[in-house]
Amino acid sequence: MKRIIMICTMLLFCLTISTVAQKNTASAGISIAKARRQCTSSAKASRYMKKVTFKAWDIKNGKKITRTRSIYVHRAIASRVKKAFALIYNGKEKFPIHTVGGFNWRGSTKSLHSLGLAVDINSNENYLIEGKRVLAGSLWKPGKNPYSIPKNGDVIKAMKRVGLKQCIWGKRRDYMHFSVKGY
Ligand SMILES: [Zn+2]
Repeated sequence: MKRIIMICTMLLFCLTISTVAQKNTASAGISIAKARRQCTSSAKASRYMKKVTFKAWDIKNGKKITRTRSIYVHRAIASRVKKAFALIYNGKEKFPIHTVGGFNWRGSTKSLHSLGLAVDINSNENYLIEGKRVLAGSLWKPGKNPYSIPKNGDVIKAMKRVGLKQCIWGKRRDYMHFSVKGY
């Protein structure tokens, strides 16, 4: 009996350790400060990027069709991004994606796109608006426009599950943009 208890305790111990380790890698991913140190120029940044290819729905002649799309993101979040797009593709909504962006050197490391730590989906239909000023894209009409990302829909849920947040705070609402920090 004592032996069984000992084995059970040991098993429980190992299980706890592995769960904690998994949690740490999943939540840690990469720090933005570290990515900024790695990606000091476009050429240096591209060394850390990884291509992510995935299936996505689109609309052709009023019908949903499957397309293959790819983007480059920082290798530290590549598997998470791939998982999010798989969840979106397998979701009930069959959310259509016709434009997608990831790594994009924007002249400095200020933008998380320069670090490959942000993803934009259907930028035209999920505008960036600050107060009343539209800064990128042209509309956001979920329910009316199929490419607009609905609140609490498959896209938001899938991104949340892998730790990517939509950039919606204060006056600034960047509906297309998902990142590790939500900015
Ligand atoms: Zn963006």
